[in-house]
Amino acid sequence: ALVIYYDNDADLADLKGKKVAIIGYGSQGHAQAQNLRDSGVDVVVGQRPGSANYDLAKEHGFSPVSAAEAAEAADVVNILLPDEVQGDVYAAHIKPNLKPGNVLMCSHGFNIHFGQVVPPEGVDALLVAPKGPGHLVRSEYVAGGGVPALIALSDGASESSKKIGLAYAKGIGGTRGGVIETTFREETETDLFGEQAVLCGGVSALVKAGFDTLVEAGYQPEMAYFECMHELKLIVDLFYQGGLNYMRYSVSNTAEFGDYTRGPRIITEETRKEMKKILHEIQAGEFAREWILENKANRPVFHQMRKADRDSKLEEVGKSLRRMMSWIDSKEV
Ligand code: NDP
Ligand code: MG
Ligand code: MG
Repeated sequence: ALVIYYDNDADLADLKGKKVAIIGYGSQGHAQAQNLRDSGVDVVVGQRPGSANYDLAKEHGFSPVSAAEAAEAADVVNILLPDEVQGDVYAAHIKPNLKPGNVLMCSHGFNIHFGQVVPPEGVDALLVAPKGPGHLVRSEYVAGGGVPALIALSDGASESSKKIGLAYAKGIGGTRGGVIETTFREETETDLFGEQAVLCGGVSALVKAGFDTLVEAGYQPEMAYFECMHELKLIVDLFYQGGLNYMRYSVSNTAEFGDYTRGPRIITEETRKEMKKILHEIQAGEFAREWILENKANRPVFHQMRKADRDSKLEEVGKSLRRMMSWIDSKEV
């Protein structure tokens, strides 16, 4: 059964007298560190010098130290580095500084679930994952609200680690929105599946295929961009506010009829079969192995694919069209 924790289920006193290390002052790091501090928690930031994030941490009143020093000083150590660098940084700088009774935290279970970060004897692993980007985790907290979060504990973790996790979730504002109990396995596998099959992989491939179909049929690429890419935001905003139902209420009846009759011809039984295959690759650790090895080889496939899509017609057309729409906070990276 679904278990959700709210403010009354968590006690910040469970973090009293404990020091929390936030390793990495990026998207999640800057938000979680500041929210915890504002909640009265003793926070030390571990952030390497020489980067904008280091300067930002100082600007925000922290005195950043190395990952090793932060881990050494803390009772609760949260690794908020990009997932693909966590294994190396953990082995070199964090693990040697963990003591029995410490709690090792993360906001995504990839490394712990797939064995790239293995907590030492006597150290429980704990996941508290906000379901939103760092800037929202911060702005909602400041506004008096909170982004909902997930909580998971490693097998055999103690009751006191769970209390620390709930206190942590409260400290970042998570229990204001609600904190859903999950497992490392469930969080990791659903996160990977969602981004691969739907959010990043599925949607990008759908947009590209729709754009290409119109352009190859002789329509102007600008028209194809508007219909297959730009307007996606309007639709997604409707999903976000009121689900498929509200989207269908808002669009024309013609669009709604096209949706019911044509959509299932795009996402066919074959597509669903492929989704199951992708899920199986995640569950079996095949995707994790591929991505870990890709990183060890300095990402030859990743760089090649990134370049191919960056240079595509879709991206070129989009860049010039976005300049015509002054209200868009347009970005070029
Ligand atoms: P970011 O990419 O925003 O943060 C990166 C941080 O790691 C920066 O402080 C960066 O420092 C540091 N860093 C990068 N490479 C290295 C390195 N080789 N050695 C030491 N420090 C390094 O990460 P996120 O906040 O996006 O992600 C952190 C965790 O949170 C991940 O596990 C992610 O899955 C999870 N998460 C992220 C969400 C999001 O919306 N972003 C949502 C929920 C969970 P520098 O500036 O010096 O490079
Ligand atoms: Mg993810
Ligand atoms: Mg239309």
